[in-house]
Amino acid sequence: MGGSGGYNACHCNDLRVVMSKRKLSRQQQWRVEKIQAERAQRAEKRDARDAEKLSAGEYGPEQPGRVMAHFGRTLEVRDADGTPVRCHLRANLEGLVTGDRVIWRAGQDGSGVVVAREERDTILKRPDARGQLKPVAANIDQLLIVFAVEPAPHPNLIDRYLVAAEATGITPVLVLNKTDLLPEGGGELGQLLERYRQLGYRVVRTTTANPDGLNALRQQLEGRTSVFVGQSGVGKSSLIDLLLPDETLRIGALSEDSRKGTHTTTTARLYAMRSDEVHDGELIDSPGIREFGLVHLDEQEVTNGFIEFHPHLGQCRFRDCRHRNEPGCALLNAVEAGKIHPERFTSYRRILDSLNTQA
Ligand code: GDP
Ligand code: ZN
Repeated sequence: MGGSGGYNACHCNDLRVVMSKRKLSRQQQWRVEKIQAERAQRAEKRDARDAEKLSAGEYGPEQPGRVMAHFGRTLEVRDADGTPVRCHLRANLEGLVTGDRVIWRAGQDGSGVVVAREERDTILKRPDARGQLKPVAANIDQLLIVFAVEPAPHPNLIDRYLVAAEATGITPVLVLNKTDLLPEGGGELGQLLERYRQLGYRVVRTTTANPDGLNALRQQLEGRTSVFVGQSGVGKSSLIDLLLPDETLRIGALSEDSRKGTHTTTTARLYAMRSDEVHDGELIDSPGIREFGLVHLDEQEVTNGFIEFHPHLGQCRFRDCRHRNEPGCALLNAVEAGKIHPERFTSYRRILDSLNTQA
């Protein structure tokens, strides 16, 4: 599962300033501080201008929008009709992310200003370069965890994704791709996925090898905001290419001139799917988001991430039971009684052990 290494938050400019400060001479440091002060001053001025314009009625009425992408303090917002508008932020509105629902007002030059953010239903976070969890996307309905017949998933890997998904509160869906490579009868993988279906997880099968191979997936995407995650090589790019056939052409219509270096590509972007097959579905995607995994979870969160444990939690003889070999452990009893699959329990122990070695 992906580590935190591949993800570059868009704050890397700031980070560079902080990191190099240590080695700077006093004169250089003075210059850095001067530049930062000037930057803050400009932001303040812009805000004052906004306030004037807002009160002078130079901005239109408040209207709802959705953040499609953001580039520093510039946002691409989609209005209620789906038209993209370039907006900037008021200084008191920090930390907007792709997927946020916002209130914005149109200016006279065709751009707008975002004045408020609505409550988030869900939020996906990732560690930034400093290891701190930062929101990267909001209002996601489902995490599509992609697996493939080839490379075959270790069962432990599926559990890791599910645990991480449960911790976010976003509904996970298992997507088995490359079913064209599946042996007759479904093989072991078919059985494994049946086990997850019995736990209550939705399982969708896909193949990019025939034109109807994405039908079940398209149904699952309808009316929802989804994110694809999964290990490399399982077919995420192939699936997304088929779902967003002309997106490559549309990407960057607005983002082109605010693009600074390559790090723009690592910030999440929201794509609307509107076609004969999917009338109203959305994808949020970025290389960083695809690497979503088990990060910063504690023992409690891992335990809660195994949903079939829930009826047994709090039933152990000892309140501080670690579910290892304590007498009267409700989880161990449930494994014994066939209510918890032994492989899931082994997986649980393995995930806990790996957390301990990471710490
Ligand atoms: P990603 O790393 O998850 O984005 O995976 P890619 O989309 O790059 O796919 C990895 C490889 O699997 C590529 O060679 C694809 O052509 C291949 N692939 C993707 N989907 C399928 C499928 O449904 N069946 C088969 N046989 N190969 C597939
Ligand atoms: Zn116990």
